Amino acid sequence: MRQIRLAYRAQFRQPTGALNPMGLKLAIPVDVEVFEAKIGQWTLRSPVTNAVFTELPACASATEARRQAAANFTEQIGDWQPFHGCEPILPADFVIKDDGKAYLLEAEDFTHILAPGQAASRKDAPTLCGRTLPHRYFANRDQGPPPTCRICAAQLRVLTT
Ligand SMILES: [Zn+2]
Repeated sequence: MRQIRLAYRAQFRQPTGALNPMGLKLAIPVDVEVFEAKIGQWTLRSPVTNAVFTELPACASATEARRQAAANFTEQIGDWQPFHGCEPILPADFVIKDDGKAYLLEAEDFTHILAPGQAASRKDAPTLCGRTLPHRYFANRDQGPPPTCRICAAQLRVLTT
């Protein structure tokens, strides 16, 4: 598990308030990204141009910044999508700890299933999901709790049905 800087993106319709003091009608949706510009300073910008929405003050948390974005448009199109760098990231792939920091879950944070035909006695062995890991990261495919790796779990369902 390693700490990452998450950002959140969503699309909105029709800026209002400080983002549109002239009250102009905007036909196209606006992409908005909430990101931590400095520690504890969440800022809004366009993920297309990287231009910061300087009309709006920085917020102390991602939640507050997302709320601020929603308050400055008439409509949000779809949910906020978490991003790691330029790539969308699934909620199952990270955790947010009590300190408010986001951590990427890595292969070693899950249990896996040994690839078929592999000897379990090897120190490092291939997994169903295509990794090579020490034996302590393996779940028993025949008994006990299922693997927490979702790729291994899905592959195991295919193998056993
Ligand atoms: Zn796996």
